[in-house]
Amino acid sequence: MDKKNTVSIPKNLLAPIKNFLEGEMMKWKKTQKEIKKSDPFSDADRDQNNSMESDLDEQIGHFDAEIKVGFVKKQLVQLRKALTRIKIGKYGICEKCGKMIDTDRLAIKPEVTTCINCARDQE
Ligand SMILES: [Zn+2]
Repeated sequence: MDKKNTVSIPKNLLAPIKNFLEGEMMKWKKTQKEIKKSDPFSDADRDQNNSMESDLDEQIGHFDAEIKVGFVKKQLVQLRKALTRIKIGKYGICEKCGKMIDTDRLAIKPEVTTCINCARDQE
């Protein structure tokens, strides 16, 4: 058996990481709600007889909100993935190659689930 794969982050270190990830999740969910609220298309009372100009404003506002929501969704997926890995005891292990993720990398971005090499390959 490969000994490298049996090494995992100690439980006493996982608890604060889990707390952090859950806190981040709450924050992003709140952000997501706020963005959706700011999306002019989500306004049920919006004036259907808009001038071209305000229509364009709404289009841009909507487009902007879509991009932001897309970004937030990605963050949420990543956080959920990291939390799942804590649950299954695989936190800190690269999901691609199975090697330990550099702890410096985890310290900066606790939500990552791939090592730096695999992350580079992805991009
Ligand atoms: Zn890897």
